[in-house]
Amino acid sequence: MWASVQTVRGCPKHCSFCSVWRTDGQRPRIRSADAVVQELQHLRRLGFRFVLLADDNFYPVSLTDLELASRQGNTQRSDELKAIRAERFELMERLAEDCSPDMVFFTQITMEAAEDHVFLEAMSKAKIKGALVGIEAVTPQGLKDIYKDFNAAGEELVNRLRRFPEHGVQVLGSFIFGLPSDRPETFETTLSVAQRAHLAFAQFVMLMPFPGTVDFERWEKTMQHDETRIAGIPVTRHWLIPSGVRPKIYSPHPVMSAEEIRQRTQKVWDEFYSLKSIWRRSHCVKSIKSRLAFLLISKLYRQMYANTGIAIDSARVTRSVRWARWMAKPCRMLFSARPMPQCR
Ligand code: SF4
Repeated sequence: MWASVQTVRGCPKHCSFCSVWRTDGQRPRIRSADAVVQELQHLRRLGFRFVLLADDNFYPVSLTDLELASRQGNTQRSDELKAIRAERFELMERLAEDCSPDMVFFTQITMEAAEDHVFLEAMSKAKIKGALVGIEAVTPQGLKDIYKDFNAAGEELVNRLRRFPEHGVQVLGSFIFGLPSDRPETFETTLSVAQRAHLAFAQFVMLMPFPGTVDFERWEKTMQHDETRIAGIPVTRHWLIPSGVRPKIYSPHPVMSAEEIRQRTQKVWDEFYSLKSIWRRSHCVKSIKSRLAFLLISKLYRQMYANTGIAIDSARVTRSVRWARWMAKPCRMLFSARPMPQCR
């Protein structure tokens, strides 16, 4: 349905649950605008209108980074950051000018971009109509848990997130449940933030120690004397465990059981993706046809990620997969486009 193209690799942050900065590095490396545009034009010739700019972080230099370098009098660093920023703007100008006007882009970005109106304006002109934003937690303590305190929390978080759609960039917000500071009320607070922040889509995942992350290293150390095996596989190699019997939560939580976290997470998905909520959010698109398409895509998204990812009941998982396949057919048609062999 969608094509994907990478324009920058590496992320300067160091979130504890994320492997990107450890595998791809913290120094952003940017592809030339020429190379990216050529690839996009080729994709449009083949019939792809919708493209994911599959970057680790589309906004690798924040205004705070620039201010800090300037305050430190670090001219070399300041010049490096300004050069990266200029290349981002060049790419966005080229997306607007040199790609077929019917192309639409989606990317992944840090929330700091909300503070940068000039950047958001350029994204809008470049037809970057959506972005995944890693929100993860809604409380200051939750953000500390995962080394992500550059994000906002509370009402400031709601206000920041609203700035994206104000510039025509719809947000897919990503949240994590099961952080050590989470409490039963965190689920309701998170849902409230997700609903008030004008997010178009949201995903609510449970904390998982992925190999290559700081969280994994820490967790693996605590497990060194634990001989638990599931389907004959040590639990510290959880990705090899067959999905039907794979646990959903790995680190014991200080106040909630794994089952409580799972159930509360499922409830948040259910409420965020109720028909009524989706229809209310569908105002982010204009025509009735687009709103119906939004509804269909929202339901597909929910089936693909919530029911199959969180459910422990294998009958429910099978049913969800069947539904997701069925709904994916009309969704494919929504995203298909005629090849344009003459496209420059
Ligand atoms: S979660 Fe996002 S911001 Fe954090 S290190 Fe990974 S890519 Fe960077």
